[in-house]
Amino acid sequence: PVKRVTGETVAERLTENARERILPARYLLKDEQGEVVETPAELFERVATAVAAVEEEHGNDADRWAERFEELMTHLEFVPNSPTLMNAGTELGQLSACFVISPDDDLGDIFDVARQAAEIFQSGGGVGYSFSALRPKGDVVQETGGIASGPVSFMSVYDQMCETIKAGGKRRGAQMGMLRADHPDVGRFCVAKREEGRLENFNLSVAATREFYEAVQDDEEYTLYNPRTGEPHEVTEWTARFYNESYAETDPDIVEENVWRDYADEIPGIEAYRGDLLTEGEEMTLPARFVWRLMVDGAWRNGEPGLFLLDQANAEHSFDVDAYPDHRIEATNPCGEQPLEDYEACNLGHVNLSLCVADDPPHWDDFRERWDGDAEAGDDLDAAVDAFLDEAVDFDRLDRIARLGTRFLDDVVTASDFPLDEIEETVGRLRKVGLGVMGFAELLVQLGVRYGSDASVEVARQLMARIDHVATQTSHDLAAERGVFPAWEESKYADPTAHPEWFRRHTGEDPAEWEDGYPIRNHGLTSIAPTGTTSMIADTSAGCEPLYDVVYFKNVGRDVQGAEPLVEFDDYFLRVLEANDVDVEAVRNEALSLLESGAYDGPSSLPIPDELADLFPRARDVDMADHVRVQAAFQEHVDGAVSKTVNVAHDADRERIADAYHLAADLACKGVTVYRSGSRSGQVLSTEPEG
Ligand code: ADP
Repeated sequence: PVKRVTGETVAERLTENARERILPARYLLKDEQGEVVETPAELFERVATAVAAVEEEHGNDADRWAERFEELMTHLEFVPNSPTLMNAGTELGQLSACFVISPDDDLGDIFDVARQAAEIFQSGGGVGYSFSALRPKGDVVQETGGIASGPVSFMSVYDQMCETIKAGGKRRGAQMGMLRADHPDVGRFCVAKREEGRLENFNLSVAATREFYEAVQDDEEYTLYNPRTGEPHEVTEWTARFYNESYAETDPDIVEENVWRDYADEIPGIEAYRGDLLTEGEEMTLPARFVWRLMVDGAWRNGEPGLFLLDQANAEHSFDVDAYPDHRIEATNPCGEQPLEDYEACNLGHVNLSLCVADDPPHWDDFRERWDGDAEAGDDLDAAVDAFLDEAVDFDRLDRIARLGTRFLDDVVTASDFPLDEIEETVGRLRKVGLGVMGFAELLVQLGVRYGSDASVEVARQLMARIDHVATQTSHDLAAERGVFPAWEESKYADPTAHPEWFRRHTGEDPAEWEDGYPIRNHGLTSIAPTGTTSMIADTSAGCEPLYDVVYFKNVGRDVQGAEPLVEFDDYFLRVLEANDVDVEAVRNEALSLLESGAYDGPSSLPIPDELADLFPRARDVDMADHVRVQAAFQEHVDGAVSKTVNVAHDADRERIADAYHLAADLACKGVTVYRSGSRSGQVLSTEPEG
């Protein structure tokens, strides 16, 4: 039988990549000469001390809490987001990774927001913007009698700004740009990144309204609105220039405008929309499937735009946005895991699930056999998984990490210095935090559960429910000590009986027992981040993702890696080999030489037994629908959202991507990102040599 590495034998240590490269390049403090002046242990001590100082304000023993936080981090049981690690206890005390600030339809505000974003990038945070308030291209500008440039042009300005900052900052700077599907420029937005090199510092997502999505399903037309007036857009010449075929044949400038027509032949199903789609002067409506096809085509070509299910995110918000429209959400942070109100920020921290395995856990297959053989057990998968996790997971440890992690994050809200008063104010009123996970895939390997299987989906749901409830309970306890978040009165927590299903799901409590409201300290508690760099520090698999591969090239930026991308071995994989008496050095060398020559093709191409290779399914080996099902299972018990890449094979067609979108919408996800392998040059993760 295959020996899995489980429980305490999972080394809680920093890998060479983390110790020698990632931490010194970005996280450890440096003096003016650029020399590193702290050790990794001192880094965790600095962060713990700075964050625990807040405990003093609440009459608690700061030293004691600092000790606990430090232990939590040095054991890599919990890792806060990068800005907390980089900036806590320093002059630049900005600790949050996620921001949303959206420009108003006003030139002054557009440039103010650019400046504000620049300040956020300097502190290592990422910014999402909704551009939906900007009037469309070609619309009137009263002051000058001229015409408006439209959202996509202003995005180029932001892109330049971000590009410029990245030269000086600790990280590259990450931006999310969103536009509502019912904005007249949505077509321009969908093709904005068609050519590589454009808007490179942006992720793009179309914010799909329910009306739009239903029109897609029913193959109907939908109405587009001019945000300047709030009325249906009256088709201008400039709008028609983009959408109408008749303009494609006239002058060269207009052909430029008409870009999607250039490759219309390549987009299946688009022939139906040949001819002129719009009539100048009339109210603007478009066939929803036309816009949908442009979106899907973009995602198929190079992963953009993604899909954000705007109304779903608002329906699940902790405020009833119909009653309190000021709380409406229009965008998420760059990687999609945090839908945020305007001027809201959020700090994240992640429970390392790979460490939450019981000593000597049963293997799922063995357990299932035993369970099925038991006449009284029944054949419900959820009951079986529940009983299995009871034996296989160290819940004391999981609960302790989730509790301490939540408290840590609440302290971070207080400790963080924000670059803008508006943000300080909004964060102070809402106190949102994002407790999530890393190491889910490695946990599954230890339990003998295959990523993407029905059992894995159920494991995801149950573990996340547990974390959600512990975090909520902790926030409830903190409210008793420190008070509720100031906007609590307006939230669903003040009126649980009006939102029974939502309340029960996130708290695990009976709404009838909380008729007068459920005191809580934070309006949102959970979120699943990508943990791109922090999972490398913790030496585990990223967020809720499957392993990308057991060995791969990782492009993390020149500051860390120099000219060559890092080769990252999944350390856990190597440990499993060791436990099974495989010659690890020989496998390493073979893997490196296969990678160099471009002949590497997953663990099964390595000299190891098949049973071992099978324990490590790669992202690409997981079926598209299973990726989405895992995401949806996590989403059920997440207040924010789930950052997840749904991988499809290079030869997958556009329909496959549309299928993923529909499935994500059906399963109540808040958004989805599909990536077709090899559809971009310069992938962050890859098993192909560069060039
Ligand atoms: P990390 O592991 O470094 O803490 P994640 O990969 O979990 O970061 O990303 C979390 C969030 O941090 C992202 O959604 C984004 O808001 C922000 N972020 C990520 N990378 C960057 C970056 N290069 N520059 C600025 N912000 C970033």
